[in-house]
Amino acid sequence: MEYVAAKSTICRQCGRSFSPSAPKPGLKLKDESSAPEESPVHRKFEGIWSRQRNRLVSCFECKRKHEVSDAASSTNCPGCSAHIDLRDYKITTSFSRTIRTRGDVHLTSKGDLSSTSVICNSAIIEGKVRGNLECEDSMTIDLVGKIPGRIGAQHLIVERKSDIQCFRRVRVTNIDIKGRMSGEIVATGSVTIHKTGTLEGNVTAKSIAIEKGGMFSGQLVIGQAGLTQGELLPEAKAAEKKAESEVPLGATQPLHAT
Ligand SMILES: [Zn+2]
Ligand SMILES: [Zn+2]
Repeated sequence: MEYVAAKSTICRQCGRSFSPSAPKPGLKLKDESSAPEESPVHRKFEGIWSRQRNRLVSCFECKRKHEVSDAASSTNCPGCSAHIDLRDYKITTSFSRTIRTRGDVHLTSKGDLSSTSVICNSAIIEGKVRGNLECEDSMTIDLVGKIPGRIGAQHLIVERKSDIQCFRRVRVTNIDIKGRMSGEIVATGSVTIHKTGTLEGNVTAKSIAIEKGGMFSGQLVIGQAGLTQGELLPEAKAAEKKAESEVPLGATQPLHAT
């Protein structure tokens, strides 16, 4: 268990300094550890054939990564030959088909996304979203309304004019809240409530930072409890076992920045 230290930090989003500190909201993107080695011959060929930029995409089925041209709209996994959609989707009206792409999704304010499942690289959400939405990279929400489905992202940003109610647990690595949000958050990284942000709901996170002016009310669990139980220290494990039938770990009083 760790508690946030009270040293001052500069916010990377708006430049204000705040405390307590949280780890930088720096994005650690895809895990490259399993990326196959590029052969020098392969690289040479690419130099000859095209000047297009390439990127690594991972297979939805076997997770193997391979390089594709930015211009490609689909590819097949060299490992398991599964089809991988690479298209971007801009949704401006009703849309109900399932999306599973390594491209991005932009749901405009007139869009109405009722697909049960959307998996994409990053997303901008300005319209109604009813189903589940999972972003491998970032999700930016600029919306007033209810979000009934499960949402998750590496980095979730709730923009300043947003006012959202999330009915299902929100799973993220890091989240930046600049608008109003209610719902339960589980973050393996940090939760940052910016000066214009308000969060109502329970939080489990590695760290939390609330800028001056930011508001948080709910139950707070800092540390790894409930996230990776296998990694808990023996004493924490014992404490948690004991706590099972009692009150949950963490503070229950509202927390306000001073
Ligand atoms: Zn800020
Ligand atoms: Zn594959």
